[in-house]
Parts: sequence; structure tokens; C-alpha cells
Amino acid sequence: MSVEVHLEHVVKAFDTTIAVNDVSVEIQKGELFFLLGPSGCGKSTFLRIIAGFYEPDAGQLMFGDRVMNRVPPHKRNAGMVFQNYALWPHMTVYKNVEYGLSLRKIDKEIRQRKVAEVLEIVHMPEYADRPVNTLSGGQQQRIALARALVIEPDVLLLDEPLSNLDAQLRLEMRNEIKQIHSQANITAVYVTHDQTEALTMADRMAVMKDGVIVQVGAPREVYRLPANLFVASFIGETNFITGQIQLRSNGCAEIETPIGTLHSSTVYHDFVNGNDVVCSIRPESLNISDAIPSDVPNRFSAKVLDVTYLGRIEEYQLLIGDNLAVVKAIFFNPGTQGRKVGDTLDFWIKSEDVIPLPLEEEYNHQE
Ligand code: ATP
Repeated sequence: MSVEVHLEHVVKAFDTTIAVNDVSVEIQKGELFFLLGPSGCGKSTFLRIIAGFYEPDAGQLMFGDRVMNRVPPHKRNAGMVFQNYALWPHMTVYKNVEYGLSLRKIDKEIRQRKVAEVLEIVHMPEYADRPVNTLSGGQQQRIALARALVIEPDVLLLDEPLSNLDAQLRLEMRNEIKQIHSQANITAVYVTHDQTEALTMADRMAVMKDGVIVQVGAPREVYRLPANLFVASFIGETNFITGQIQLRSNGCAEIETPIGTLHSSTVYHDFVNGNDVVCSIRPESLNISDAIPSDVPNRFSAKVLDVTYLGRIEEYQLLIGDNLAVVKAIFFNPGTQGRKVGDTLDFWIKSEDVIPLPLEEEYNHQE
């Protein structure tokens, strides 16, 4: 039975390091919820609190309406999948998967049925008698998943499960885990520092920094409307252009910047005229064209400083004005010719793609 997982003002410190700092979040029943953030931000600690390996110093962890703070791991009915699989290498697939059921003293016949069912789900039924150490990395990760699922956990916890796999296998396993998750209809918390994994798989994701959740939302929401400069630069790539809010009505603003006035129709912070802001503009939002209509906003000319050809796309470093700003642009389907260093080009940006964000102390220091 899948459950809702609720953390309320949870704190966990190790000596002077506050690994999880007053975190409150509700993970919905059946949701595939991602925790994303740079190394050391507290992701694993968060997961371990849910698994029961750590007890919170303060705050409350709930599974449904049950307070779980002091419930030991083996009484939580949580399935865990680790980066290093944590399987018994010399034991067969069957024995590895069966283990959690034996611990729970489930009848042999039911054990056999459940193991068979779960091996079917992970597409490995014919491997039951093979020792785990004769399987490939991807196959072992499927068995680790099967072992976690076989106990029909209330919550499935995944700690960087794909990071030991090669790029191609990671892609395949992303789809597979997503499918298995929806088939099992289980609440899952998935920790990664791979943003593409989170963007492609998550129902919702939480971005963590220094023990704090800075934003929770669906991938599209977090990418399109980052809460602050950290999220804007951590999830995907972006250009930052500083400026000052000059005028604003109905979520629209004109922002005076060194490259000229930027028009934004995506103002979702409480700015007032004169506020210093940083505009986040994704590289793919720069629409490069030889024939830009006269009625579009945010038109600029730029000189190409650098070109990186990537087949499907071409990336440019562009200099706007004599020395006003360097921005990155992505040009899709570059064809056979492409552009060269020293060329000039024109581009425009939709006003909905200019996202003004509050200027932060930290950003000033980086300048
Ligand atoms: P990574 O992506 O590198 O695994 P993370 O986001 O999972 O990092 P955590 O492992 O949760 O981060 O660590 C958060 C902070 O708490 C770090 O500063 C880490 O050094 C510290 N920390 C974690 N576990 C312990 C521990 N058992 N003892 C002391 N400090 C710890």
C-alpha cells in the first residue's frame, strides 16, 4: 500500500553541519518525487531519514497519518535501491530477491509467486537461477529494484540508482524505472544530482541547497520558472543579465539593462519599480534569424565569439554591443554551413522567456 510521506520542519545535524535544515515537504501517494542538488546539500540524509537510518533531531516524519520518527528501518516497509546495488554477488537472483520475504517469514509458496511476479516486472524472469555476479550492471540494477519491490513497500527509496551505469544504459533504465514505478503505483523518492534524470522522470522535484529545499515543482515549472538564481543556473543552463525594473503591470515589466531594455511578461516575484534584478534567459530562447519581423520584442545584434558544433544543434558564444554582455545561444538544425567566429547575427527573445529574479548577495560576490 503506497502512502503519502510528509516531513514537517525536519532537522538533522552532524556536529556543526546541519545536513537537513527545517525541511517541510509533502510527497504524494504514488508520486515519483525527485530530490536534486549539488554534492553535500543533504539529499542522502533526507532519504536516510525516510528510510529510518537517521532519526530527525527535530520535526516530524509521517507515513500517512503515522508518525515514523522512532520506527526502526525494518518496521517501515520501505524498499531501498542503492547506487552500488548492495546485492549478494554469489547468491542467485532468486535468493537475492526472496531475501526480504524470508525475513518477513512469508510462506514458501507465496514467496515463489511473488519473486516470479516481480522478476516479470523487471523483465528478468529467465535469470532466476543465475548468480548475481554473472549479470551486467544494468541487469544487477534491475534485480536490486526487484528486491526492493518484492516486499510491496509503502515507499520506494532510490539513492542515485543509475550513476554506476554507462550513458546508454542509464537512458534505457530511466524509462524502465518510470514504467515500473507507474505499474507498481508506489510512492517513490529518488535522489540524484543528474538534472536530466530528474527532468525526464519526475512527477515533481525538490531542489536542495545547503540542507534547505529551495523549490518544489513539476519539472517544467522548475525549469521555466526557477525560484531564484541558484535554481536557474543549477537546472539547465542560463544567461544572467542584471538590470532594474522600470515599469510593471499585469505580470509584465521593462527592465533596463546594459544591453538595452528587456521586455518580460513572466514577472512572478513581488518587484516594484527600481528593484535590482537579474534576468534569466535560457540559451534556447535566443531566436537567431536572418529575417526578424519588426514587431517582436527584445531584438539584438551580436558578434559570434565561439562556435561549438554538436550535430543536432550548434552553440554560440555571442558578444552583444562592443563589450556589453556575452551570452550563450543554441541554434537548432544548423545544417551544412553554420556560422563562423567573427560573423554578426540578429536574434530576438520572446518576452515570456525573460525571467527577472531577485538580485542576491551571492550573485554580487560572483560578479
Ligand atoms: P552527495 O551528492 O555528495 O552524496 P548529499 O547531497 O547526499 O551529497 P549528504 O550526504 O546528505 O549530502 O550530506 C550533507 C552534509 O552532511 C554534508 O556536509 C556531509 O558531509 C554531512 N554528513 C552526512 N552524513 C554525515 C555523517 N554520518 N557524519 C558527519 N557528517 C555527515
